[in-house]
Amino acid sequence: MKPSNALFAAIIDSSDDAIISKDLNSVITSWNKGAERIFGYKAEEVVGRPITILIPENRADEEPAILDRIRKGQRIDHYETIRKAKDGSLLDISLSVSPIYGEDGRIVGASKIARNITPQRQIQERLRQSEENLRVTLSSIGDAVITTDPEGRVAFMNPVAERLTGWSRKEAEGRPLEAVFRIVNEMTRQPVENPVTKVLRMGTIVGLANHTILIAKDGTERPIDDSGAPIKASDDRGILGVVLVFRDVSEKKAAELVTLRLAAIVESSEDAIISKNLDGIIESWNPAAERVFGYTASDAVGKPITMLIPEERHAEETEIIAKLKAGQRIEHFETLRRTKNGRIIDVSLSISPVRDSSGRVIGASKILRDITQRKDAERKLEKMQQELKVRADDLEKTVQERTASLREMVSELEAFSYSVSHDLRAPLRAIQQYSEILREDYRTQLDQEGRGYLQRIASCTSKLDGLIRDVLAYSRVVRSDIALQPVDIDALVRDLVHHYPNLADHTADIRIESPLLPVQGHEALLVQCFSNLLGNAIKFTHKGRAPAIRVRTDKIGTRVRIWIEDNGIGIEPGDQSRIFGMFERINSEKAYEGTGIGLSIVRKAIERMNGKLGVESELGKGSRFWIEMDQASSEENLPG
Ligand code: ADP
Repeated sequence: MKPSNALFAAIIDSSDDAIISKDLNSVITSWNKGAERIFGYKAEEVVGRPITILIPENRADEEPAILDRIRKGQRIDHYETIRKAKDGSLLDISLSVSPIYGEDGRIVGASKIARNITPQRQIQERLRQSEENLRVTLSSIGDAVITTDPEGRVAFMNPVAERLTGWSRKEAEGRPLEAVFRIVNEMTRQPVENPVTKVLRMGTIVGLANHTILIAKDGTERPIDDSGAPIKASDDRGILGVVLVFRDVSEKKAAELVTLRLAAIVESSEDAIISKNLDGIIESWNPAAERVFGYTASDAVGKPITMLIPEERHAEETEIIAKLKAGQRIEHFETLRRTKNGRIIDVSLSISPVRDSSGRVIGASKILRDITQRKDAERKLEKMQQELKVRADDLEKTVQERTASLREMVSELEAFSYSVSHDLRAPLRAIQQYSEILREDYRTQLDQEGRGYLQRIASCTSKLDGLIRDVLAYSRVVRSDIALQPVDIDALVRDLVHHYPNLADHTADIRIESPLLPVQGHEALLVQCFSNLLGNAIKFTHKGRAPAIRVRTDKIGTRVRIWIEDNGIGIEPGDQSRIFGMFERINSEKAYEGTGIGLSIVRKAIERMNGKLGVESELGKGSRFWIEMDQASSEENLPG
């Protein structure tokens, strides 16, 4: 049975979709209830009017294109577009258009089924936007986020997660989480149970695991805190995946370590370290503070700091607090403090302000060292130094007195030896003269033996004469007033060599390396020195070898060193300092005559002219005596 037209009409009217027909001129020919609901026009308002009233201006060209296709007998299926309702609102529409054939089989028009998809569109748009929001949010938060599907495969990761794991989102997506998120226990190095596995197993939020190390793709290791939570569907579809949130805690760990170290330093410090607030209440107290003051931390914390300060110094604390409030440090000052048992101790104190994170001063830390022992030692030292000074002063006085009396004695002795020597000369002369007369006038009356005795008298008296002369010369050197003047050493030495009896007629080869530099000295004393030194150089030679002597000068800064070098018998190192002493002789046996006074005269003379002298010598090879004196300032000042 063919269904009636009425049935068709009923079906069409009951449809939710708009069912509209039009002819090939785009004039609406039928309009069902669905069309009325969607577009707001009643059938009588639109039948006979062009379909273009439903089309927004910017889509005006759609209609000719649709008609074109219809004319060609083509259908248009589920074409999504926008149409305009009676009230002007725009609707998302899904359109299907089919040609209508006339009885003759020609196309006479088109039927459209239009479905309003605006509500779905809106939902989709909202969904897209909320997904976008989520993505942006996850991308911009500071923590790393990875989400997985129910099988634990990576679905999404934010840039922080990319950085920490070393995996890019593209590489990671779809991989099992264990491959991307490799974690081990910091201590045991054993793999930690994957939080996603744990979440999937337990179905709840899994808390932060401690001491977890994340190993990045390139092997870099970082301590992390992590947590996982299931993504649950709102209906009963169960768990849709897991969201894993973690963060790099390297810095936090490092900061913790610093804090731990600092705490250890404070704990192990030899110095008392105490902190207090601005009301002067003790807030922390280390073991050294306990040792110094005798209070335990629990005794001290919460008590006023003034309990450590002797009463008469309480004002100090007020001053300290004022300085601290002004943000000043107080460096190393020494003061007194009181211990638990009332003992007063010397301490050295540094105080620094303690600030909160906003920079406000909230208290102070003190580093305090017990310096009682040092102070005691200092006090003792000071006392000892004072005593020592008193004694030293006494000693100085005694020495001065003794020196003065010694000087007096020495000069008395010198005067005595001078006058003795002087007085000895006249009788000695007499003995010499009388024995000379005996030798000349009574020669024939004396036998061989008598003449021998006379000879011995002559030799002894001449020895004695030499001795007396030397002693007198020494006394003169010691006693004479001298003024230093420039002395032309070159002329002086030449003159000596040519005219001095001991030196003049001798076979010695005396070489003077002119010019000898002038010195600041005293001519008569210098004559004494050179006649002695040159005399010794000629005297202390090997028998049978002609003496060769060289005199030269060196300049040493503002000083002149005069060298007298010989090729004589030399002096053993052990004797070299001794020979400058009075009556010191090495060759006391007969081989070389002498008194042992010559070098004492030289030493004394050089001393009096602010000079120095010395000798370098090798036994058997020769000696080099030297004298060092100030150089004369200029040659014009030289006499003659
Ligand atoms: P004297 O010449 O009267 O013995 P000196 O005081 O001049 O006394 O010298 C002391 C001693 O130093 C001499 O006895 C001698 O042993 C030693 N002496 C001095 N000059 C020389 C020298 N040029 N070479 C070797 N020995 C020397």
